[in-house]
Amino acid sequence: MSNHWTTCYLGLGSNLANELGSPIEHLQQALLSLEQHQDIRELRVSSYYASAPMGPQDQPDFINAVVEIKTTLAPLALLALCQELEKQAQRERVRRWGERSLDVDILLYGQQQIDEPALIVPHAGLHERNFMLVPLRELAPELMIKGQPLSAHPLSADWSGLKLIE
Ligand code: ADP
Ligand code: MG
Repeated sequence: MSNHWTTCYLGLGSNLANELGSPIEHLQQALLSLEQHQDIRELRVSSYYASAPMGPQDQPDFINAVVEIKTTLAPLALLALCQELEKQAQRERVRRWGERSLDVDILLYGQQQIDEPALIVPHAGLHERNFMLVPLRELAPELMIKGQPLSAHPLSADWSGLKLIE
């Protein structure tokens, strides 16, 4: 096991309540599990944002947040943990881009570029999704992505469809 701590960013989203809780509670539970994980430290979380859904419009708005962590987990182990968190929220596959109790995506893993069948990093949708870029910029205004400043990306300051919660 490596003792090198890599700074990573995860995108959390939920727009479905179930018997385990509301969308905000699903996010909070995931954050708690991340915080308690022995291979994760120095967790920082963005504000919560409400965002209009992608894909089918006949579903509730999403609650989104981005979390910064330092971790010794290798990329695929971190992906497995993300999927475990989704399972813990009893995520079920309803339809493509449809409602879900919890989605946890790896947005960035240090400065690594990964292109495997199961894992693409930076996340393939990152550059088109203001609900990932705006909270990311809130957390890490100086961040560089593939050699480009995040703050130079127009969508990182585009609040279309986004609302700050609270
Ligand atoms: P989406 O997040 O696009 O709505 P899913 O959460 O259902 O879709 O994920 C589908 C697959 O995407 C996962 O099985 C995973 O292997 C793959 N995947 C590829 N890159 C990533 C990434 N950066 N973060 C999370 N999942 C990823
Ligand atoms: Mg996902």
